[in-house]
Amino acid sequence: MSSADPQVETVVDLNAIAHNVRILRQYAGEAAVMAVVKADGYNHGAVQVGRTALAAGASELGVTTIDEALALRAAGIDAPILSWLNTCASDYAAAVAADIELGISSVAQLRTVEQAARTLGRTATVTLKVDTGMNRNGISPTEYPEVLALLRQLVADGAVRFRAMFSHLACADEPGHPSIDMQRDRFLDAIATAKQYRLQPELVHLANSPATLTRPDLAFDMVRPGIAVYGLSPLPQLSDFGLRPAMTFRARVALVKRIAAGEGVSYGHRWIAPRDTTVALIPAGYADGVPRTLTGRIAVRIGEHDYPSVGTISMDQLVIDLGDNPEDVRQGDTAVLFGPDGPHPQQWADLLGTINYEIVCMPRGRVVRRYANDPEQAG
Ligand SMILES: *Cc1c(COP(=O)(O)O)cnc(C)c1O
Repeated sequence: MSSADPQVETVVDLNAIAHNVRILRQYAGEAAVMAVVKADGYNHGAVQVGRTALAAGASELGVTTIDEALALRAAGIDAPILSWLNTCASDYAAAVAADIELGISSVAQLRTVEQAARTLGRTATVTLKVDTGMNRNGISPTEYPEVLALLRQLVADGAVRFRAMFSHLACADEPGHPSIDMQRDRFLDAIATAKQYRLQPELVHLANSPATLTRPDLAFDMVRPGIAVYGLSPLPQLSDFGLRPAMTFRARVALVKRIAAGEGVSYGHRWIAPRDTTVALIPAGYADGVPRTLTGRIAVRIGEHDYPSVGTISMDQLVIDLGDNPEDVRQGDTAVLFGPDGPHPQQWADLLGTINYEIVCMPRGRVVRRYANDPEQAG
């Protein structure tokens, strides 16, 4: 171990990312795959995940903000990139200059993109994001005719290239939910309406991970999975779909010590040693993304064994009970908080009453991210 080894880290296995993209390509059939790498690749690293996904057969990348898209371009990624959630303060000119495709949710936004294109003397590439029932981002049905009329004009005079139309499903993780077919029907209607304005998208897309995995009939020209790229199932009760979790959250044991029966551990002495025992200190706490409410409810894996968290999880550390330490756990050993070789992130999700998406977004602060099987870091 070098002195540079971090105390607490996430390790992202890029082979798992590539594997997951290949699985998604199979589910996608003839449709292309846009790998969603928003929020820094669901906290896995957008650049490394994006490169890996493209090499494994994804055709495009999707992100939320223009800044996220520009970071991918700055890293040398030249595949199509779509950015779909921006404000009037976002740098549309930079996006147009970097050939970022912009998801449009309103007339005002289309006007802003038009201005950026005219200022630069370049054609902006736009994709209409139609709201088919999520009622969040996307063009509302009431504004849709006005957007189409303006777009028709901008396409005609060359300010804008109309590339695609897409929409986002609200309940795809509940197979059979009636809103799924309702949103599909509204999406088809929106495409038909655009045609009445003589606007023909080059491609249309609707499916997120759960729809990609359960509704092949909704693949259209491209699917848009996020969470499945990272190896987590959007339908954990149903199946893992052969996906492999890419993230391991782990730390090094900082200290091992004996304590006597009756001694209290950590703030509030919420845990009293019921016998003489050995405890180990793990240098990861809530500032690193281990929620304090998981106190006493999680286990940490060292080697082949799971050891329970005891005593209050604090800002910087948590304590585990090794009993008589039969496996001889020592300072410097690797302790897995979650990951393919430890507790599954779904266990944390179930304990916290949330979804696995939120769990992989938790590691932060002092946590250092590293990559396994990164061709750029060979050797
Ligand atoms: C986040 C997001 C996705 C990916 O969703 P998953 O459930 O992670 O597959 C797809 N499309 C849009 C518009 C999104 O915001």
